[in-house]
Amino acid sequence: MLKKYLVFSIDDGTIYDKDVISLFNKYGIRGTFNINSNLANFTWYYNDNIPITRLDFMSNYELYKNHEVASHTLDHIHLTSVDRKEIIRQVNGDLTYLSWLFKRNDISSFAMPFSDNNEWVNSIIKEHTNVSNIRVSEIDESFNPPSDRYYIKITSLDINRAIELFPKFLKSRKKISVFIYAGHSYDFYVNNTFDKLEEFLKLINAHKEIEVVTMKELVDAIFKK
Ligand SMILES: [Zn+2]
Repeated sequence: MLKKYLVFSIDDGTIYDKDVISLFNKYGIRGTFNINSNLANFTWYYNDNIPITRLDFMSNYELYKNHEVASHTLDHIHLTSVDRKEIIRQVNGDLTYLSWLFKRNDISSFAMPFSDNNEWVNSIIKEHTNVSNIRVSEIDESFNPPSDRYYIKITSLDINRAIELFPKFLKSRKKISVFIYAGHSYDFYVNNTFDKLEEFLKLINAHKEIEVVTMKELVDAIFKK
């Protein structure tokens, strides 16, 4: 039987996760949320003028119940510009702090902050941290399942493109087809596209052959345990 997996990988843990999770819960969809544990309550400015604030994770940990919590480094740094020791601290430190903040012991997925990574950074994370899989921001619209659990490409970063690609995903005749949507919850806020996200969730729900899984579940299914 043909398998179709779809993953939502949402970065940064901003206050708009509340809106995304409320839509996910409405449609019974689970996502993977990649969080920087050191940046609770932190605010930065999108395009220098729209404030984007991270959640207070300590008081919101229950929001993520039923969803996967994953690492995105402690401080959202450029991993290509620090040394080996700092890479390990940023990743393992985040895993440990996230486990404490979210009161769970199953955190092992990782999403690379920014789009800057290289083979050296990847190999350090793979060999010296407790991460079980790495998602990068490179786009691959082929729906091929990842061939390397430490270098998982994404299908789309844009909700309009995701909706556009969806019929192709449905028609895909590969033994295993994978659709990975990656982005931030604030994307839907700044682009005013929460309605598009809901449209996409409805499309997904209308096709029961699609299994919406977390990143960890995808990796376990594809690479077996
Ligand atoms: Zn990020």
